[in-house]
Amino acid sequence: MTVKTRFAPSPTGYLHVGGARTALYSWLYAKHQGGEFVLRIEDTDLERNSQEAVDAIMEGMTWLGLDWDEGPYFQTQRFDRYNQMVDKLLAEDKAYKCYASKELLDEVRAEQEANKEMPRYDADHPKIKAANAAAKEGDPCVIRFRNPKEGSVVFDDQIRGRIEISNTQMDDLIIRRTDGAPTYNFCVVVDDWDMGITHVIRGEDHINNTPRQINIYHALGAPVPTFAHCAMILGDDGAKLSKRHGAVSVMQYRDMGYLPEALNNYLVRLGWSHGDQEIFSREEMVEFFSLNAISKSASAFNTDKLLWLNNHYMKTSAPEYVAEHLQWHLDQQGINKDNGPAITEVIALVAERCNTLVELAEQIRYFYEDFSEFDAGAAKKHLRGVAKEPLELALAKVEALNEWTTESLHQMIADVCAELEIGMGKIGMPLRVAVTGGGQSPSVDAVMQLVGKARCVARIQMALAYIAEREANA
Ligand code: GLU
Repeated sequence: MTVKTRFAPSPTGYLHVGGARTALYSWLYAKHQGGEFVLRIEDTDLERNSQEAVDAIMEGMTWLGLDWDEGPYFQTQRFDRYNQMVDKLLAEDKAYKCYASKELLDEVRAEQEANKEMPRYDADHPKIKAANAAAKEGDPCVIRFRNPKEGSVVFDDQIRGRIEISNTQMDDLIIRRTDGAPTYNFCVVVDDWDMGITHVIRGEDHINNTPRQINIYHALGAPVPTFAHCAMILGDDGAKLSKRHGAVSVMQYRDMGYLPEALNNYLVRLGWSHGDQEIFSREEMVEFFSLNAISKSASAFNTDKLLWLNNHYMKTSAPEYVAEHLQWHLDQQGINKDNGPAITEVIALVAERCNTLVELAEQIRYFYEDFSEFDAGAAKKHLRGVAKEPLELALAKVEALNEWTTESLHQMIADVCAELEIGMGKIGMPLRVAVTGGGQSPSVDAVMQLVGKARCVARIQMALAYIAEREANA
């Protein structure tokens, strides 16, 4: 049997990190088992669903690298199939027409509450029976599923263990509304059956639907999949994670400069563990993932840990991978990577100093763009009269350099120090400010090598002009 899992979001907004974790777990389980992963868009709520939300979900999934083997399927395109199955249950008397009006149902409910009974739909209530007996063919009605009256539904949740719910706690669910639309719990069952889903991995908020759905599987003669319900994600105050705790949309994390591998690694560990390992490559996640190592208890979202993981991936990822995800930020910040050294070389030099891609893009602008001003604080401190002679000597040596390598530049700086009998800082810092515009950068020889000779010459000249002007105004 091929394992098949699915992610079945309702397109009401962005891809939430909670949804992304469910998608990741479903994806990982399928990959771990050599199975397949299906994307299904549950878009039956026409008032709350939108094409933008569908696009946003797919964009988030694609960014995270959670590719689907089948789909996306859309529930709105499958109404005929659901109705066919409702009719089948009707024909087999496993479902029936119910003509009770809303007013009548409210009346019965009020009566039950007054009698301190659990308010529920009761097909045997005399008033409901009478209403159904009096109805004529063609009167408005809903279709209800005939839920078994006795016994219980038992299932072995892969995360929560054995769950048993008595049928007396379930009433006859509406499976088709008066307007002819099939309802959510019914569509999900028909879909999971038709799509050959073997494992349903979803949020705990759906656990109450599962026994009802299992009864429908039985009525349809469909095999019941295995279920796994994941606990919720909480904010730092213990309440369910929501917008007021900060960013909850996957694409917001892209915007803030996170790498998808860092977010995936963070999400996989948020409620799943493998010993005390924290860092997982994608291959390791696939290799080690199992449903029974998912925690039963809710997990709290911790932004500091996510940032720590991002820094780890910034430091250790292949520059090509970082470059792929940096591009969006370069575009955002208006940096053209064709105007300077190979971006992968710049990344190899600078990325380890940054926590996010936003920071990285900010820090590498000077490789690709000239600037007309130095950082005021850095210039004030390092572009002073004392720096004039070292910078002039460095300029002469730079102009005369035939070989433009980090080593030759390192030697050039050492020669300036030796000739002027000054310490490294007396030339290193002014050079850094001259070439980068600011006071912080990786090793100045390596930076100069990538910035290139022409730009270095022009920038040192600009620094000397700055010093001259400053002295003139003193
Ligand atoms: N469409 C449901 C949701 O977005 C998921 C249903 C399911 O996974 O069975 O919450």
